[in-house]
Amino acid sequence: MADKKMVEAITSMNEDFAQWYTDVVKKAELCDYTSVKGCMVIRPAGYAIWERLRNELDKRFKETGVENVYLPMFIPESLLQKEKDHVEGFAPEVAWVTEGGQQPLTDRLCVRPTSETLFCDYYKNVVHSYRDLPQVCNQWCSVVRWEKETRPFLRSREFLWQEGHTAHATAEEAEARTVQMLNVYADFLEDFCAIPVIKGRKTEKEKFAGAEATYTVEALMHDGKALQSGTSHNFGDGFARAFGIQFTDQNNTLQYVHQTSWGVTTRLIGAIIMVHGDDNGLVLPPKVAPTQICIVPIQQKKDGVLEKAAWLKEQLSNFRVKVDDTDKSPGFKFAEQEMRGIPLRIEIGPKDIEAGKCVAARRDNGEKIDLPLDNIEERIAELLDNIQRDMFEAAKARRDSQTYEAKNYEEFKQIFAEKTGFVKGAWCGDQACEDKIKEELAVTSRCMPFGHEDCEGTCVCCGKPAKKMVYWGKAY
Ligand SMILES: [Zn+2]
Repeated sequence: MADKKMVEAITSMNEDFAQWYTDVVKKAELCDYTSVKGCMVIRPAGYAIWERLRNELDKRFKETGVENVYLPMFIPESLLQKEKDHVEGFAPEVAWVTEGGQQPLTDRLCVRPTSETLFCDYYKNVVHSYRDLPQVCNQWCSVVRWEKETRPFLRSREFLWQEGHTAHATAEEAEARTVQMLNVYADFLEDFCAIPVIKGRKTEKEKFAGAEATYTVEALMHDGKALQSGTSHNFGDGFARAFGIQFTDQNNTLQYVHQTSWGVTTRLIGAIIMVHGDDNGLVLPPKVAPTQICIVPIQQKKDGVLEKAAWLKEQLSNFRVKVDDTDKSPGFKFAEQEMRGIPLRIEIGPKDIEAGKCVAARRDNGEKIDLPLDNIEERIAELLDNIQRDMFEAAKARRDSQTYEAKNYEEFKQIFAEKTGFVKGAWCGDQACEDKIKEELAVTSRCMPFGHEDCEGTCVCCGKPAKKMVYWGKAY
């Protein structure tokens, strides 16, 4: 059977998770490889997901006063050099333009790996008085980082993202904005993407190049590896001092601005695949899914079936719905809907029509439900809400079952030798311990979770009194 074969074409998750991921990306037609090494084509099915994520985030940003702008994709080397930590952090993965119009450039241009420096250059020109603050801008664009190893959506040389950049009159305001945007990401991931996250602060070692503090939302994938899913940075006045962004305050005193930046990328698509997917392919939460419902007419050549399917589509026009009336077999259509992660399939055939019902099949748990055709819109709305909620709960239960706690280095090593997941372990705050853990166990500190600022106990590495609770894990 054709439908059986289509399902068999994916490697099982338990057998080889990396291959399963590649298979899903390919078979669900999310992206394709290109002649440009390390860069991908995001295909219509993948781009439609990105559009859903982008539109929702854009709406949520604007509710907090964010305005969109667009800055150049090139950064002159002289500008990039201005903030020392920042340039050191990015130098190894920057791509350079050295020639333009067949002439060598005197100041070579880098293709933006991120746009802090350009935003600083811009704010220096438009911020003069306290009346010009705050500046709360965001841009949707692509950036280039010359990665050695690439994987679809997770790591590619060019990727899509948004980068918000703000400038404020006070340190308090900048800190509040940093936390506010982290919360926007956390709510978006949990409510919209059905992905539970740990919110916290990065250690000095893991923070962004040039930042005073980096906050992160960390999610756990099906295979127990962590994925940094969004970050928000407080720059203090470091960039402002390097770039000379000053304003006169209400007392007519010259002050430096305080800045933030925050971003999420097309990695989010990778997170959705790896948190929700299964051995039949992609599983999309209803809020994310470009198509929420696929109506499959059964015995569609029989009188009245296609008409009833069209009627059903009309009834459900408030949802993102399509009818698959192609000449493929129903089994093939089912497998295709499953592979693409469409949350709900509705089957309707002559017997259903006679009984005044249809059959709804849930993608997330495979459940099949007979639904009366009267009040169908209400029933489907409820069902989609349930799927969204159940997917979050299932992901959370899985995350919690893959979260462990270690009291000392023996336990810590033992857990990582046997399992992959988050391990909560107290830390003395010394980077030597963090370095040792990374070197010996290939594990990094993911974050110091909010709400555990005061930590008792002893360091999971050296046994000295601990200062911070840390989530440790293997990461993508
Ligand atoms: Zn220690």
